[in-house]
Amino acid sequence: MPLLLGCIADDFTGATDLANTLVRGGMRAVQVIGVPESSASLPEADAVIVALKSRTAPVRQAVAESLAACEALLAAGARQIFFKYCSTFDSTDEGNIGPVADALLRRLSAGFALACPAFPTNGRTIYQGHLFVGTALLNESGMENHPLTPMRDPNLVRVLGRQTDGAVGLVPFAVVEQGAAAIRREMTRLKESGRRYAIVDALTDAHLLAIGEAAEHHALITGGSGVAMGLPENFRRAGLLPERGADAAALPPARGFAAVVAGSCSRATLGQIGLARDAVPTLELDPLATPDAVALAAQALGWVEGKLAADRPVVIAASAPPEKVAALQARLGREAAGALVEQALASVAEGLVARGVRRMVVAGGETSGAVVSRLGVRSLRIGAEIDPGVPWTYAEPAGLHLALKSGNFGARDFFLKAFEMLPAEG
Ligand code: ADP
Repeated sequence: MPLLLGCIADDFTGATDLANTLVRGGMRAVQVIGVPESSASLPEADAVIVALKSRTAPVRQAVAESLAACEALLAAGARQIFFKYCSTFDSTDEGNIGPVADALLRRLSAGFALACPAFPTNGRTIYQGHLFVGTALLNESGMENHPLTPMRDPNLVRVLGRQTDGAVGLVPFAVVEQGAAAIRREMTRLKESGRRYAIVDALTDAHLLAIGEAAEHHALITGGSGVAMGLPENFRRAGLLPERGADAAALPPARGFAAVVAGSCSRATLGQIGLARDAVPTLELDPLATPDAVALAAQALGWVEGKLAADRPVVIAASAPPEKVAALQARLGREAAGALVEQALASVAEGLVARGVRRMVVAGGETSGAVVSRLGVRSLRIGAEIDPGVPWTYAEPAGLHLALKSGNFGARDFFLKAFEMLPAEG
């Protein structure tokens, strides 16, 4: 079946989040890393999510990469384009959300798109165009101090208005509450009165589903992963997607040894390592004692000899509590400390794969980026969710199962549960 939904995400974990939402809605989804070389290189799926690193890239680069991704998705048959950004609308007055959306609208010869970053499950709601994080307005949520994209104005109509030369309107709560038909009518009215965008209020998942339904015939939808919740049903209603029941999360059979590589120092990850330590072979590296990526990786790969198994993982962690992290940072500098550990863990992952590991959990966003890049992964087919927001994936061309866990995600038994969910076959 040809591609239905073509998605462009402005960062890696945002792409996974969106892919995961679509799989839960019954679409087979594949995340592709970076601008695809051509449409021919895109895998078979109902939805392809191109993961860019364009959130804080220079505007021209973000626009060019997004357009190139759009081109490949259209050539593969995409019927609708989704531009995914952060649920906190991370951007500056220069962009990149407005300029990228403007360029995509132009490419699609469309005059209007909705903008809805709401994600009620994670406390991101929009009321009268104002974005809330939990009970706080965006500009009082901590996001006002973000190092790269400080958000100092909670009114998204104004924020987006500063990023585009088009006019921005609002579909307010009172309309959204009335459902899809009312939202559609209001969007038509805004478009006819010259608005290029509408921020759409949303406080609940029911609102998001109605907004998704109202946007059925839009060439471009922009927003967070939440507003994608309603899209699978549109394709199903049009007879383009099978009824639920077909397993959209199916992945190739699992094989080989199991391992966890952890570089996240978040409280959740430290707890997960603590629990795993009592159950499976666990090595805690000490980058302070050995501040050398090659030597650290050699230590880990020496230790692992004879310990790999198919029925339980080994855990190799550089993760450390804040005082130890601070000590290494004081010695090497913050960036160099992070890079050293990331490179060491990427080498560990590479060594593990060379030794027959084919199912691997990686803990940490930056750590995952380093591992995926070292393993030469080009695409991730999204499978079943282990814990909210963290699915198993099948990485190609490497041919292995990966679960990329951003630091704070996952229950305490994540490292054990993940492999119980995905036992090696044969
Ligand atoms: P998270 O998703 O929790 O933010 P990341 O992998 O994105 O995790 O970031 C954790 C960072 O901490 C990485 O750059 C990693 O290399 C670094 N790191 C891991 N262990 C240590 C350590 N013991 N000392 C200093 N830095 C570390």
